[in-house]
Amino acid sequence: MASLELQNIDKSYGALRVIEGLNLAVDDGSLTVFVGPSGCGKSTLLRMIAGLEEITGGDLLIDGRQMNKADPIQRGIAMVFQNYALYPHMTVEQNIGFSLRMAGVDKAEIARNVASAAATLQIEPLLKRKPAQLSGGQRQRVAIGRAIVREPAVFLFDEPLSNLDAELRVSMRVEIAKLHRKIGATMIYVTHDQTEAMTLADKIVVMRSGQIEQAGTPDTLYRDPDNLFVAGFIGSPR
Ligand code: ADP
Ligand code: MG
Repeated sequence: MASLELQNIDKSYGALRVIEGLNLAVDDGSLTVFVGPSGCGKSTLLRMIAGLEEITGGDLLIDGRQMNKADPIQRGIAMVFQNYALYPHMTVEQNIGFSLRMAGVDKAEIARNVASAAATLQIEPLLKRKPAQLSGGQRQRVAIGRAIVREPAVFLFDEPLSNLDAELRVSMRVEIAKLHRKIGATMIYVTHDQTEAMTLADKIVVMRSGQIEQAGTPDTLYRDPDNLFVAGFIGSPR
């Protein structure tokens, strides 16, 4: 587990400023959900936290240490993407163990960690299959398995369920809530889905044009939105 602090974070692509002086504290072990219109900077922010994108200004602190330049492994962060690309030629077991093999972890430990991730996600019967032999929901579980196998302190999810059909989205949402309770890692979760935000979040952050419009518990944002923009995202009648 780990706490995160974003202090006055800026991001520009050339002359285009996409994140502007953003401040946020993410508590150790909490689940924070980001919502906001397309293009407001949610994915950019996650990629900066993950270490996949350079931070233009400000500081990222993980457990109180400045981590602006650290790589994703040093940060202890794993990210699950919307288009969860699995290696098609590898089995589920090989896909989940891939990052550990690359890190030179020994075979017995890889086998233990893969088995434990598979048990957590209830995909043990699928370990010998190839991605083409899996359903969308099963593939998404494998993608999450690839992230949890490294036992990261922080998980970032970028609209992980948006490619799934409605029924599967509901069951995967329940699985993610269970996963959070079980492993207790700090999670940041981007979604377009209000129900996902309301049911998963300890804290919801509503973003607009690279800035935070309002942040608070689901209950606070629902009952006491600062403005119509926030109310529109949280679905409170006003
Ligand atoms: P969101 O995930 O909220 O939809 P993004 O973080 O993807 O938003 O994008 C925020 C803004 O940054 C958008 O205007 C987008 O066009 C721009 N952007 C994202 N990535 C790049 C890039 N690599 N180069 C230039 N502009 C980018
Ligand atoms: Mg995005």
